[in-house]
Amino acid sequence: SAPLSIVRGAGEAANQGILMRTGEAFQTYRLVRSIVLDKTGTLTEGRPTVGEIEACDTSEDELLAIAAAAESSSEHPLAEAIVKSAFARKVVPPAVEAFEAIPGKGVVAKIEGQEVLVGSLSFLRGRGVDFRSIADRIDALEQKGRTVIAAARASRLLGIIALGDALKPDAVETVAALRKAGLKTVLITGDNERAARRVARDLGIDEVHAGILPGAKADIVRELQKYGKVAMVGDGINDAPALMQADVGVALGTGTDIAIESADIIILGKELGLIMRAREISRYSYHKMV
Ligand code: ADP
Ligand code: MG
Repeated sequence: SAPLSIVRGAGEAANQGILMRTGEAFQTYRLVRSIVLDKTGTLTEGRPTVGEIEACDTSEDELLAIAAAAESSSEHPLAEAIVKSAFARKVVPPAVEAFEAIPGKGVVAKIEGQEVLVGSLSFLRGRGVDFRSIADRIDALEQKGRTVIAAARASRLLGIIALGDALKPDAVETVAALRKAGLKTVLITGDNERAARRVARDLGIDEVHAGILPGAKADIVRELQKYGKVAMVGDGINDAPALMQADVGVALGTGTDIAIESADIIILGKELGLIMRAREISRYSYHKMV
């Protein structure tokens, strides 16, 4: 059975909104050398909103209508933001004949007999869509930290939609505290490189991995484990394998069930700072034990 100090520590943690699933995770957390942080929904609020819209050879309303139609069956936060924005602008999405979601990339739909793609630029580029006419505009938006997604019909670019997602209010101080405690901070995201670098710079994060496909997050954790124990903090389905791979998996209670089931520690409270607090309690309980 677990030493009494750990049981007490776990009780104290629970009072603060930190659920420790295993005594082992509790003991390991204080030994962690690097901490991997998911961007969307972990460091950011995870509630993106549509900002700039840039249509090519069509109107903004038609671009939004087609994108919203294609996204209407997707549960991705970006999809929800696009559907909401179309609704707010009172554009009427056309009927969708077929739909497929491609995790970490976007969606493919059939609308009025034509193939519509909505998703990351790299996804559409890989399907032969040309972005040269709008490349400078994309650069500028990504530099601002926007997530830029694109829509195409029959392989022709319809335009781009830029989405913004605010940082959590205590993201800056939490990252600063983690670094001050001697942890290497690592940002991991499926989002584009420029937006990821912008967030990392604003937060003072040490290392960035952008454009990571769902399966590859665990590989990055594995690589970091060569240098010491690793904690992973995430909220999404995409994060589940990395949460399992990490020595300490920390899921946010606001996250998906799969993430929560894959974690050792669950943060039920609102503040991101609780990921730091959990580590402090882990250290403190250990000292009481020896
Ligand atoms: P994250 O790791 O930031 O949570 P995801 O792995 O879910 O992001 O997605 C990575 C990228 O793939 C997104 O930034 C977006 O460009 C694209 N993407 C994924 N799903 C969708 C979708 N339904 N609509 C538009 N773009 C999408
Ligand atoms: Mg996430």
